[in-house]
Amino acid sequence: MFLTISTSGTAALPATDLGFLLHKHPEKAQTFSTSYGTAHVFYPHADAERCTAALLLEVDPVALVRRGKGKGRGGAPDAALAQYVNDRPYAASSLLAVALSAVFSSALRGVCNARPERAAAPLPLRIEVPALPARGGPDLVRGLFEPLGWAVTAEPVALDTEFPEWGASRYVRLVLESEVLTLAEALRHLYVLLPVLDDAKHYWVSSDEVDKLLRAGEGWLPGHPEQKLITSRYLSRRWSLTRQAMERLELVRLAEADDSEVEAIDNAVEEETEAEEKPTPLAVQRREAIVAALHASGAARVLDLGCGQGQLVHELLKDERFTEVVGVDVSVRALAIASRRLKLDRMGERQAARVRLFQGSLAYTDNRLKGYDAAVLSEVVEHLDLPRLPALEYAVFGHARPKTVLVTTPNVEYNVRWETLPAGHVRHGDHRFEWTREEFCTWAATVAERHGYNVEFVPVGPDDPEVGPPTQMAAFTMKSEKTEKEAKAA
Ligand code: SAH
Repeated sequence: MFLTISTSGTAALPATDLGFLLHKHPEKAQTFSTSYGTAHVFYPHADAERCTAALLLEVDPVALVRRGKGKGRGGAPDAALAQYVNDRPYAASSLLAVALSAVFSSALRGVCNARPERAAAPLPLRIEVPALPARGGPDLVRGLFEPLGWAVTAEPVALDTEFPEWGASRYVRLVLESEVLTLAEALRHLYVLLPVLDDAKHYWVSSDEVDKLLRAGEGWLPGHPEQKLITSRYLSRRWSLTRQAMERLELVRLAEADDSEVEAIDNAVEEETEAEEKPTPLAVQRREAIVAALHASGAARVLDLGCGQGQLVHELLKDERFTEVVGVDVSVRALAIASRRLKLDRMGERQAARVRLFQGSLAYTDNRLKGYDAAVLSEVVEHLDLPRLPALEYAVFGHARPKTVLVTTPNVEYNVRWETLPAGHVRHGDHRFEWTREEFCTWAATVAERHGYNVEFVPVGPDDPEVGPPTQMAAFTMKSEKTEKEAKAA
């Protein structure tokens, strides 16, 4: 079982820094004993331009069987032989994930005292697993890794090259490439997804696996389009554990929330109210500006991305021009409240056919968001950490590609006009940033340029001569219906 991790570099940022990040010296070959055998770490190539670290696990079949006793799924008499005669020593699998976490535990946590700034920054990465058991085939491999920012090559490995008519084995040769991930993120993806693809017997499933999964999945598992499959396979389809994990990922709650429960949540959740909302209902003005811009665009099928508690969805449903309104949010609580507010369960059939709410994260590409006339992101971008913004940009403008995109966000210059807002404070506790007009324009212009849109700016609320309006809106219009591929090539 074998995988390699490569990076490239320059004289100023040498690729050999990989050694610091992995806490393994490029000039040494090292050996570690793990629960299932011996792990070797060595560097087939290490210079400033290119550095490759290899992790090789020699499985000890006896240790494997001993440790697995009574814990695995097997137990049937014919499983006894399978315990000794199987592909485990040759294929990368869940055991490699165990070795990975044992040998690279600091790297997995992103800890690197020698090069902290490099550990925190994305780097060019290429990971290769020559033989990966992949139940679900290349399509699933892509479905798992692509939303996380990997370019994926997954080639089926032939059962026997001499007899192509035998078809493909259940292995793929996997190559992952990315420039947008940190090493720690990459290792955490592998730690979770290798066993998920293997989907074979795991020897270590216990209730603290749920914690391990949630820890390793932090920042990328919630809202992953395949979250449910990942969770259930990782936990070896132990439904009670899966449920426990899903509950903690707050998914099951949405499915099962009844009115009284949602009411309790409703009371507990603070609404996004802004300091000025009583005298001038800015939120109302914002929705009016959005509806007007949607009318001008002629949109009929509209996405409300980061729909929160559904106020805009509610507004749009009143207007027959909008034939389909889809609310998407990462927060299950917000969606549960939206669903209750909209009285989704008591809606007439015709009305219900026009509206849908689902959970999703804008940090991931999602095919469910393709093919709409317009998407609205009302007061959403400022809720993402700045480093996640390129992912949102790509998911919306690069992948979903609605013809019109409306983005609103606070204008931080206006904050001095809020009497109740202490100087230097943002308007809402969860705002990760607030932009000046210039910062917003620069961002929007870059996005438009990169993805083939025109952009115009619309003030929302009183346009102060000095500091501008309280809310700024960018209205993007796709230049031509270029496909994603053409846009990328351009
Ligand atoms: N659009 C609504 C709500 C704005 S509050 C309005 O204008 O009133 C911001 C919303 O964005 C919250 O509901 C939050 O859950 C959601 N959000 C934050 N990050 C998100 C992400 N990565 N993907 C999807 N929704 C997200």
